[in-house]
Formats: sequence, structure tokens, C-alpha cells
Amino acid sequence: MIKIENLKHYYTDSDGNEVKALDGIDLTIEQGEFVAIIGANGSGKSTLARHLNCLLLPTEGRVEVSGLDTREEQNMWDIRQQVGMVFQNPDNQIVAAVVEEDVAFGPENIGVPGPEIAPRVAKALAAVGMTEYAKHAPHRLSGGQKQRVAIAGIMALEPKCIVLDEPTAMLDPQGRKEIVSTVQKLNKEKNITIVYITHYMVEALAADRVVVMEKGHIRFMGTPREVFSRVDELEALGLEAPLAAKVASELRKSGVKLPSGIITDEELAVSVAIEKGEIVAIIGHTGSGKSTLVQHLNGLLKPDKGTATIDDVDITAKGVQAKNARQQVGMVFQYPEHQIFAETVFEDIAFGPRNKGFNEEEVAKAVREAMEFVGLDYDTYAERSPFQLSGGQMRRVAIAGVVAMNPDYLVLDEPS
Ligand code: ADP
Ligand code: MG
Repeated sequence: MIKIENLKHYYTDSDGNEVKALDGIDLTIEQGEFVAIIGANGSGKSTLARHLNCLLLPTEGRVEVSGLDTREEQNMWDIRQQVGMVFQNPDNQIVAAVVEEDVAFGPENIGVPGPEIAPRVAKALAAVGMTEYAKHAPHRLSGGQKQRVAIAGIMALEPKCIVLDEPTAMLDPQGRKEIVSTVQKLNKEKNITIVYITHYMVEALAADRVVVMEKGHIRFMGTPREVFSRVDELEALGLEAPLAAKVASELRKSGVKLPSGIITDEELAVSVAIEKGEIVAIIGHTGSGKSTLVQHLNGLLKPDKGTATIDDVDITAKGVQAKNARQQVGMVFQYPEHQIFAETVFEDIAFGPRNKGFNEEEVAKAVREAMEFVGLDYDTYAERSPFQLSGGQMRRVAIAGVVAMNPDYLVLDEPS
């Protein structure tokens, strides 16, 4: 959709000095991509945006939109129809006294035939969720609604790409949400390429890719997760990572073990890493989710969102690798004695190791070691019926059955 090569843009300031607003930008944006651009004030974001629909032309280098060079005068018309711009102040972008007339202004201006205009306006208003306001006066709408009307005005031109330069800067939190979700919807449902400049980092989380600018250069770019994990580098550029990423980073620095790549509140609230060899206690009220949590550690439950990994393997995946990972986790539940089912203690403890494919010799060794481990004398108890043991002994049999599988990780859910 957009190809930028070694783009330089120099302004002359009021003292006649040269300002290198863009100093060698290379960036390619695919059709259908949602790219967020972040960077401190003066880093060149708006200057870059204005090159995408010929409001500015390169001092050096080139910008192509759908293969059309912005420097060729005859391309300007085409490019401006393909790339619509939305700016900060919704009031400056609204021209008519009725919403639907405002949205119709663009298509009328570019000579769309009369009968085609009304359907285009209706479609555009529907796309931004403003159909019911078609007959309203724009000046009575909220900031978020006005900005959606401005976006509808662009949509009515049937663009391939919309460039938004801090479209939420003047909006309240509700308005900001409306704009982000509208833009996301246009991207997902209409495959509109989005270039979204913002200083709200949480808004950039919605993008496929985040581009970080500093002093006319692209410092780095990547998925939101890649970019916002670089908390310290962002801060050095005068940018704040999302709060969750910052908190996660500070917690890690103070020694709390957390998985990498935490960028949302949700991920921060439920993420935890447990190291090999650690003993971790989980406490919480009845109903707080303890059992639900631990049943995700061996795949008994599958996450609705997020992942559970054992030794870096996603345990809910299909295949032998995930199965092996799950088998590294032994589980002892509340009332472990309810897990007992076999006729002898030996047979009960042997069930797991056999299932894991141990041969009989290995099984016998595993059972003996597990019984010793839980403090049950082999010769006394191996051939006894587990159901004739005391409650405490039954529990030990159940735990021995788990230990006998020689798991790397042992999870005990209120075993006593
Ligand atoms: P951003 O949008 O990231 O805040 P801009 O693209 O607006 O950054 O500005 C980049 C640099 O170019 C800044 O140093 C700014 O002062 C300068 N600049 C922007 N517009 C002009 C202009 N019309 N004349 C002179 N300098 C400008
Ligand atoms: Mg700007």
C-alpha cells in the first residue's frame, strides 16, 4: 500500500535554519495492515503522515502509494482518493450543519454521481456506527461522535487507507475508546489500511505493528508486544510503556518471576512463572480460583485466553511434545484417597508408571522408591488392599502413585 524509501523532509524555521524533520525514513506498509506510530513531540510523526497523501512532498527520497510516486503531480488526485486523513480537532473537519450532508461533502466534491451519494453516505455512517445520527447537527455531538463523522466523511470516499494523526488527543476516555474500536472495525471488516498516530500507548496495542520515531528517524518497530516490552528504551525516548508493561518490568527488576512480554492489565493480573525446583504456595479464599488455576498446569482445563507452558511448550497444543510436557506435571487433589482404585497398594501405585510405558522392572523400582518416599514400608504394605488402610496412609498411597511417575513438577491441591 505504502512504500517509503530514504524519506527526508527539511523545513526552514523562522530564523532561516534548516530543521531535519525526517532524516531518512524507510517503511513499507501492506494493504490491510494496522500500523501505529508513536514518538515524542517533534519526532516527525505528523510530517511523515502528511507525506502519505501529498500534503507534503519529499525533500529527498520517495514515497509511493499503491505504486504511485507522490512527487508526480498527475498522481496527486489518485493518491488523495486512496489515502484519507483524519486530524486531531474534529471541529475543524466538519463543514456542514447536518451529519449526512457533512459525510456527503467529500463524494460530491470529487464528482461522485448524485444517485450514488446517498448509498455511500449510508454505508459510511453504518461503518462508524453513526447511522442513527444522520439527521443530527454535528455541533451537538460528543467529541468521539464528531470524530466518527469525520471518519465517515473519509469512508464515503472509499479509500484504501486512512491516516489518523492523534485523532483522540482532544477526546475524553469514552470518545477515545469509540475511535479505537471504530478504526479496528474498519481495518478488520473492510480491510482498510490504517496508519494511526497516537501518544496513548494503550491505543497502539490495537495495531499489528508499532513504529517508534525519534528525531526524524525510526528507532525500532515490531508487534505491540515486542515494542512495549522494551520499557526502558521507550522511557529513554520520552515515551511511557503501558502501565502493565511498566509494572511487570519493575516487578522483574525486584526479583519477581514473571513471563516476558506482558503488556496488558489482564496478562499482568494472571501471569506467573514458576521455576524448576521452586516451592510455590498458592493461597486464596474458597472460590478465588486456586483449583481452576492448577488444573491448567497439566491440561485438565484449557485457557479461554492466554497460554500455559511447561518448559516453554504450550501444553494445550496437540502432539507428542505437548503430551510429554503435560506428563511432567503430577497432580494430587484434595481427598487424594479418592484417587485410589486398585486392589493392592502396589497395583495402585504402579498404574501411572505402567501408563507411561515403564517396563515391569522399572515399575517395581518406581513403586518401591515412591513408597519409601512417602514413608510407607514396602514389605508391610505393597500387597495390602489400600482400602483397609487408615485415611492418612491412603493419602500417602495416592501421593506415591503420583511420585512414582517421576514428574518434574508436582502440584498438590489442598492435599491435607
Ligand atoms: P510530531 O508530529 O512527531 O510532533 P512534527 O512532524 O510535527 O512532529 O515535527 C517534526 C519537526 O519538524 C519538529 O522539530 C518541528 O518543530 C518541525 N516542524 C514541523 N512543522 C514545521 C514547519 N511548518 N516549519 C518548521 N518546522 C516545522
Ligand atoms: Mg504531530
